[in-house]
Amino acid sequence: MSPYDTAVAKTQDTEPAIARRKPTREQAERAVRTLIEWIGEDPEREGLTDTPARVVRSYEELFGGYLHDPAELLARTFEEVASYDEIVLLKGVRFESFCEHHMLPIVGVAHVAYFPRGRVVGISKLARVIDAYAKRMQIQERLTAQIAESIQSALDPIGVAVMIESEHQCMSARGVHKQGVSMVTTRMLGCFKDDPERRREFLQLIGQGG
Ligand SMILES: [Zn+2]
Repeated sequence: MSPYDTAVAKTQDTEPAIARRKPTREQAERAVRTLIEWIGEDPEREGLTDTPARVVRSYEELFGGYLHDPAELLARTFEEVASYDEIVLLKGVRFESFCEHHMLPIVGVAHVAYFPRGRVVGISKLARVIDAYAKRMQIQERLTAQIAESIQSALDPIGVAVMIESEHQCMSARGVHKQGVSMVTTRMLGCFKDDPERRREFLQLIGQGG
């Protein structure tokens, strides 16, 4: 039994709560089987007999973000930072997400920075917050904002900056078929929003500054 079978969804936002009305694993597998039939395949042929179960298991991982509460991940903070008053930056964190319109991968990197007001958090926690929001059905704009705002509310820093660059497979593998196009979104809060100098510093650190 996986966490998915027992967990009550923990979401701090208005995300679709999986606890609301959760189909059984068997129903989920049947739905995959229906899609296999719908594209014209034979779900009984040897290579495909275990596919519905595999797909459902892989969804547990790919959409595992619903099982994590980012506020909880950021709950443990440290105050002994010896008056460190510079930017803390986590640069180039690779993530995989799924666009909520086509359920196709969004693959990219996130740059996450904050300017502490005495309190910091372990950097691995920041990376886990990125995953907790990425491993859901998303649009990139919301993903960017959610990461920034969860750090803002957990640490109350002087500022938070998040930039995400990614490729959307719903654009490269279908639809307009544009390869190599990256979508860039930013969310700047506090000093990164109000102080052009800080913003420039952030952009320079992540290699986007002039
Ligand atoms: Zn899409």
